[in-house]
Amino acid sequence: MLSDAEIIEVLKASGLRPTKQRIFVGSLLFGGKHQHVSADKLQIQIRELGQKMALATIYNCLHHFQKAGLLKKVNAVNDVIMFDTNLSYHHHFLNVDTGELTDINEEAVSIEGLPSLPDGFEAESMELTIRVKAQI
Ligand SMILES: [Zn+2]
Repeated sequence: MLSDAEIIEVLKASGLRPTKQRIFVGSLLFGGKHQHVSADKLQIQIRELGQKMALATIYNCLHHFQKAGLLKKVNAVNDVIMFDTNLSYHHHFLNVDTGELTDINEEAVSIEGLPSLPDGFEAESMELTIRVKAQI
């Protein structure tokens, strides 16, 4: 885990003003294991720590972090937006029953037979989401 001073440095280095809320949310996200969070999930985590933060405030923090390049946005099920602390190029398993995302290493996947790109464009990235559900 990062200290508050370290989180303030991370925020400043990304051009973000280190507000109290951003430092607190940052302390839950950065410096530990990679995680996938939604605003709702984070609010529950904050409540469990005996703190209170409005959902809109949490959303704002997450969006600012994402715009500053500290988080990646990942679309999950039912239009829930998940934020990923793993900024490297990687793929996901998405559990459609629970909405849970799991990282897949890039090396574990090889993709063939891609169409040619539209004229004048180059590929920036391609990330794969494998949607999974429990077998019945
Ligand atoms: Zn991920």
